Amino acid sequence: MKKPKILVVGSSNTDMIVKVPRIPQPGETILGGKFVTAAGGKGANQAVAAARAGGDVTFIARVGNDIFGRQAISGFAQDKINNRFVFRDKHHPSGVALIFVAGDGQNSIAVASGANACLSPADVKHSKFAFAHTDVMLVQLETPLETVLTAIQLAAKNGLPVILNPAPARRLPASLLRLVSVLTPNENEAELLTGIKITNDDAVARAAKNLRSRGVKSVIITLGARGAFVSDDDGERRVPGFKVKAVDTTAAGDVFNGALAVALAEGRSFDDAVRFACAAAALSVTQFGAQPSAAKRVDIQALLSATRQ
Ligand code: ADP
Repeated sequence: MKKPKILVVGSSNTDMIVKVPRIPQPGETILGGKFVTAAGGKGANQAVAAARAGGDVTFIARVGNDIFGRQAISGFAQDKINNRFVFRDKHHPSGVALIFVAGDGQNSIAVASGANACLSPADVKHSKFAFAHTDVMLVQLETPLETVLTAIQLAAKNGLPVILNPAPARRLPASLLRLVSVLTPNENEAELLTGIKITNDDAVARAAKNLRSRGVKSVIITLGARGAFVSDDDGERRVPGFKVKAVDTTAAGDVFNGALAVALAEGRSFDDAVRFACAAAALSVTQFGAQPSAAKRVDIQALLSATRQ
């Protein structure tokens, strides 16, 4: 089968993680930490997840002309992601997230967006070839909003379905929401976008309705281990999650979105696509790390077959 073409527009970061007994106080130095680096950034995580789920992925992003940018690009190449539109910024460093993780699981994170904050509407326009040769576009909110809007407008002009993962959460103009085919907030993001406190299933349904009334075609609210709530022209329903032993839920949403893009581009029914995405995301929470945990297509298919009623 020919691989579906997925265009991802978004951020790339290097996560620099120090595992410490406890989070240091201002002015305090703690010895005895363990240091690890991991490729991250929502855009990059979703691009890698889509590639492993079976997509032919092109990534539009901006990294610095430094060791982190070079490492990120070589990681994308290993996943056979087309890097032609990953721009190298001469003036700004690659995005980094400095993360403390304490023994009790608490964390404290500072992000320096660096080159991600410079991914511009001009970069997107410069990549217009990619828009003309893709099946689905996937975008998040870790790059400037005007860049996201330009990408969505260009996708609409090319007749491409747009999946917007509204993370990190922020308020969005109606002009942007009207061009979105599938919006995929988690519960916190749905709450921020709608002002509806998500306390039960009824509130989830109201939030989805609110978002659709603002012009979004289909809404998927992800519900952690419970799966996802779907609202489209066929009505509202919950697609259950897969029962797994979760060890690290970092980037579950990113893996969900990458896999969803592939399944929709393959022409699966909406519910089948959400099931495929839930399976991929469930597998990812059984492993540590963001990009390292993104599930491979063969494993996603195996989980789906094993649980088919
Ligand atoms: P985010 O990672 O953005 O906060 P969620 O926590 O809603 O988003 O998770 C996204 C998706 O990942 C869910 O819809 C579900 O399919 C899957 N998922 C998350 N946590 C678990 C879990 N503990 N067990 C099984 N699947 C999970």
